[in-house]
Amino acid sequence: MALISRFDPWRSSLCTCPPKLTFNPYTGCDHSCVYCYASSYIPRFFECRPKSDLLRRLQREAATLKGETVSIANSSDPYPRIEAEALLTRVCLAILAQSNCRIQIITKSTLVTRDIDLLGKAPSTVALTITTDDGDVARLLEPNAPAPAERLKTVETLIAKGIPVSVRVDPIIPLVNDKPERLIGTLASIGVKHVTASTYKIKPDNWQRFSAAMPQVAEKLKPLYFEQGEKKGGYTLLHANLRLKLLSNIRRLATANDMKFGVCREGLTQLNTAACDGSWLLAAKQR
Ligand code: SF4
Repeated sequence: MALISRFDPWRSSLCTCPPKLTFNPYTGCDHSCVYCYASSYIPRFFECRPKSDLLRRLQREAATLKGETVSIANSSDPYPRIEAEALLTRVCLAILAQSNCRIQIITKSTLVTRDIDLLGKAPSTVALTITTDDGDVARLLEPNAPAPAERLKTVETLIAKGIPVSVRVDPIIPLVNDKPERLIGTLASIGVKHVTASTYKIKPDNWQRFSAAMPQVAEKLKPLYFEQGEKKGGYTLLHANLRLKLLSNIRRLATANDMKFGVCREGLTQLNTAACDGSWLLAAKQR
């Protein structure tokens, strides 16, 4: 099986991403986010481990690239805690930076700043996920990921070094982080040009973790998801009208602050003001 593969090979009706490739240096992720979707289809997901024969396979596949965007990573985070010592993502970036591709990093980690030198060698953009600017809430939702304040500093550092950054305010969970006015204002003030958002989509295992982390909120969310919500693509979603309302508010906040906006896996293309995943920043950088 190829390491670098087509993103969204199933062509989900919810996904509006432009064509791109995807690559995960690791299987699994130890940030252990309660809402994680990948844990529902990858066994032992929170036991993070490197892909087998990673570097040799990547060398071979990277040599065949023809200018595509490679998104790193969509079913894990390229900077799990073990990466600080393992340096595997760093070596992978060194290989990709010498090949013919554009690089999109998706992470919650501050460690990405370590690799700014390599990101500067190829057209690159970073999508930093900052679900909330409330450190206490983030600790419940994303127990092993860096605190939001640290992630905001990471955004500032990347932008200062010339790496364009989008921020994923993602997922939006009613009663938890659905009023991100202060966060969006902060993002605009530090030079972020694009915000991507989506709403929380329930799978049985992520709901179990969420309910354990925030039992009182979970009780209040039950009718919104399980009575008024809808099923799509194997997930339980909020009702389309509520998703539209929540995401339209974030779109309003982003555009009022001169940032582009896109929704992720919602099928609400009418809300996008640019390529939903922020990959337009790659083209903007090349001009
Ligand atoms: S960082 Fe992403 S892949 Fe890792 S646990 Fe959190 S949601 Fe899952």
